[in-house]
Amino acid sequence: MKVITLGTSGAVPTLKRSLPAAALQREGEIFLFDCGEGTQMQLMKAKLSIYKVEKIFISHLHGDHVVGLPGLLMSLGQTPREKPLFIYGPRGIKDYVLANKKHLNFHCEYELLLREVKEGIISEEDKYRFEAVALDHNHLSLGYALIEKERPGKFSVEKAKSLGLEEGPLFGKLQRGEDIKLENGKVIHPRDVLGKPRRGRKVIYATDTRPCPGVAKLSQGADVLIHDGMFSQQEEKEARERGHSTVTQVARMAKDAGVNRLILTHISSRYPDDNLLLKEARTIFPSAIIGRDLMEIEVPLP
Ligand SMILES: [Zn+2]
Ligand SMILES: [Zn+2]
Repeated sequence: MKVITLGTSGAVPTLKRSLPAAALQREGEIFLFDCGEGTQMQLMKAKLSIYKVEKIFISHLHGDHVVGLPGLLMSLGQTPREKPLFIYGPRGIKDYVLANKKHLNFHCEYELLLREVKEGIISEEDKYRFEAVALDHNHLSLGYALIEKERPGKFSVEKAKSLGLEEGPLFGKLQRGEDIKLENGKVIHPRDVLGKPRRGRKVIYATDTRPCPGVAKLSQGADVLIHDGMFSQQEEKEARERGHSTVTQVARMAKDAGVNRLILTHISSRYPDDNLLLKEARTIFPSAIIGRDLMEIEVPLP
């Protein structure tokens, strides 16, 4: 699994930074968070196929986060697609997409499923789920988390052999959580040969927002937190007024929550040199990253 920061600017693009979008690639599937102007180009530069995008999560209906969406949907309409495309967002996302579809008169030869969501679990899959969390912005805004389910513990070949099992298909059955019965009538349970379940990974995308308790709570033990870090602490008042965060505030929150990797994004165009922000964040969270366009951050299995 990896995170690709496609667009890391906030409000307006710069020559170095495109408007907000981040991709999460997991076993061949691509999930897209926000779709600012230029996201299609950024996906191409990152060598991510738009046809592999399974779900799009829109934080809020400020133009810098959604203007890329109509173009992306139009391009997707050029090629037949079998799978449906899900778009999740706060109230208003349906209207926005449908109005674009109507006025720009584009066709979707695929199933387009628009989901207006609120805080809580919004999608439940076999191996993971997505949750939405309310943000604190000047406009109705949601953050999103991919949370993997626990994986079975490590299989102990030694233990299995000591119980009289021979290597073969029965190993697989136990790994899949099934009991097996030996010829002598003895039953072997998965717990007899598997170690403790292993936790899954958690990746959170939260922008635009002031620091807020919902995100702090959700971030407990997160593998990656991608968060609004629009301003330096010197602009704390402006950050608050405009519904954004300072890198200092986020670094503190991430440290308290035991986040593993912190990526700050939605960087204001007033910092053409982001070293100031980097230094500021790293005095609190030494491995903090100031997101730059097209960075790839691996999210290894724990
Ligand atoms: Zn924004
Ligand atoms: Zn905004």
